[in-house]
Amino acid sequence: MKIAILPGDGIGPEIIDQAVRVLGALDERFEMETAPVGGAGYIAHGHPLPDATLKLAMQADAVLFGAVGDWQFDTLERPLRPEQAILGLRRELKLFANLRPAILYPELAGASSLKPEVVSGLDILIVRELTGDIYFGKPRGMRIAVDGPFIGEREGFDTMRYAETEIRRIAHVAFQAARRRGKRLTSVDKANVLETFQFWKEIVTEVHAEYPDVALDHMYVDNAAMQLVRAPKKFDVIVTGNMFGDILSDAAAMLTGSIGMLPSASLDANGKGLYEPSHGSAPDIAGKGVANPLATILSAAMMLRYSLNRPAQAERIEAAVKQVLAQGLRTPDIHETGTTLVGTREMGDAVVKALAV
Ligand code: NAD
Repeated sequence: MKIAILPGDGIGPEIIDQAVRVLGALDERFEMETAPVGGAGYIAHGHPLPDATLKLAMQADAVLFGAVGDWQFDTLERPLRPEQAILGLRRELKLFANLRPAILYPELAGASSLKPEVVSGLDILIVRELTGDIYFGKPRGMRIAVDGPFIGEREGFDTMRYAETEIRRIAHVAFQAARRRGKRLTSVDKANVLETFQFWKEIVTEVHAEYPDVALDHMYVDNAAMQLVRAPKKFDVIVTGNMFGDILSDAAAMLTGSIGMLPSASLDANGKGLYEPSHGSAPDIAGKGVANPLATILSAAMMLRYSLNRPAQAERIEAAVKQVLAQGLRTPDIHETGTTLVGTREMGDAVVKALAV
């Protein structure tokens, strides 16, 4: 089994180091090969997704990805910006399904911005479509407006679109995930305003006929945002488009106490996947040794479960993470009075140690 390790920028290398150490502490050895991506790819080879990095990602059985992006690259033209690497990988590897669990560990109930009774025991899964929607729709660009009330002015524009196949395949992933969990699926749309999401709602409803054991409901995205902070435990699995999923999954991340706790998996049709923390490269804390590595370590666990077919090893890592939290170890993002403040490497050390017992 070969894993492509793509650390990226900012805190990427620091958190990936800890996940690699955790993988190295398992009984089984995995072949791992590292390559630059994002700003690091641009510096090394003049492109955020160098050919050799893409080739490695395509050959590997799974990809473990840190994060990309740094303010120093903000002046580059868009195709050369670090963030293009992740969009390119999703496109080239055909990773259309993004699974983002949001689980609130009881030990972190106090770190959530919501009242413990509202979030304690939270266990939801957001299934986000990843390769379509307004992020990829064409035409797009900047131009002089040719019509409308601001004719003659400069304007920016993008195109929201979803093809039937795209909606069907993500709906299947979500219904199947719901079937393995609480058997409830909420499809989030904006069908009252957008044609794209009226169509989305119709197709998801059609696919539902194949999953009579799963209860389906539909919710507008504005209401879903409200319900996520009002009564998040009402949800089991949420399926939505690329842009709404991007925003809702970050909101769900905060329910868990920190964006530093949330892993994610992006899968193709055959179960090959790219695994990464849900957060970005956090340039504000890069190099300080304070980033929380647990989302990345938990992403490695998801990789073992979904792409490498090693569920027992995944459970071992998840149990080790629970153990270090129960011991009271906390990076600054989840620290509260009465717990022990640790840095990135110490948190990694603790997980490795917990695996050994
Ligand atoms: P971010 O997720 O990097 O950071 C948001 C906040 O959360 C910051 O205060 C940061 O310090 C904190 N944070 C994030 N991860 C943390 C961790 N593991 N431990 C502790 N604190 C953590 O989002 P941003 O600031 O909006 O973006 C920074 C850069 O990351 C940008 O260049 C953006 O484009 C990029 N980005 C990349 C990805 C990706 O690689 N998939 C995703 C999102 C953003």
